Amino acid sequence: MAARRAELAANLQLLRRRVGHACREAGRSPEGVTVVAITKTRPASDVQILADLGVRHIGENRDQEARVKAAACAGLPLTWHFVGPLQRNKAASVARYADVVQSVDREPLVAALDRGAARAGRQVGVCLQVDLDPRAGSDRDGRGGAAPEAVPGLAAAVADAANLELLGVMAVAPLGAEPLAAFQYLASIHDGVRRRHPSATMMSAGMSADFEAGISAGATHIRIGSALLGARTALK
Ligand SMILES: *Cc1c(COP(=O)(O)O)cnc(C)c1O
Repeated sequence: MAARRAELAANLQLLRRRVGHACREAGRSPEGVTVVAITKTRPASDVQILADLGVRHIGENRDQEARVKAAACAGLPLTWHFVGPLQRNKAASVARYADVVQSVDREPLVAALDRGAARAGRQVGVCLQVDLDPRAGSDRDGRGGAAPEAVPGLAAAVADAANLELLGVMAVAPLGAEPLAAFQYLASIHDGVRRRHPSATMMSAGMSADFEAGISAGATHIRIGSALLGARTALK
């Protein structure tokens, strides 16, 4: 536990330095960039250490794993983000512990999350996940995300849902794409959303390999797994 704590503390310090550097390069303040630690495949003890080190945002991508971990960490001052592909039949479960669902990409999910949040007596924040791959065409089931054309309609649906709050947008850079160009495209989509929904200021863009590009494009949230917690062994 002490060794793991030292390891995570060192990783966090290095990450903060890199984030600071990227912010200076982009002419931005580091206060404008929130690190969401992606703890998938990692034990709840890692989440507890991170919380103790001052991390306040935790992200998970599978409901089964996330709900157990969130329960084990109840009482810690953490904001829980769900960032993974979400099935409609898992929406009610996710609405019980997630403060933010970053991966909403279709209307049936909006309705299911809204019902789940109502039943849980909670307000759940939502980001619309956008598929930035221009080659996706009609086959958009790869890494998830709504087609850019679908975003305005989805934003309106979330804004109209009584128990959901539209926070902003999220994306993963398409495989093989230049991350900076992809995230700049996301920023332009985000601008369109904010014209109609000015409070939807969140832009979640950038992971361990490309968070500098996210920061350069204006990300308010970066989702960091391996750079903080170490390399994951391949899952599924
Ligand atoms: C796993 C994951 C991340 C973090 O990935 P790293 O490359 O380990 O930083 C970010 N976003 C999503 C949606 C993920 O599933």
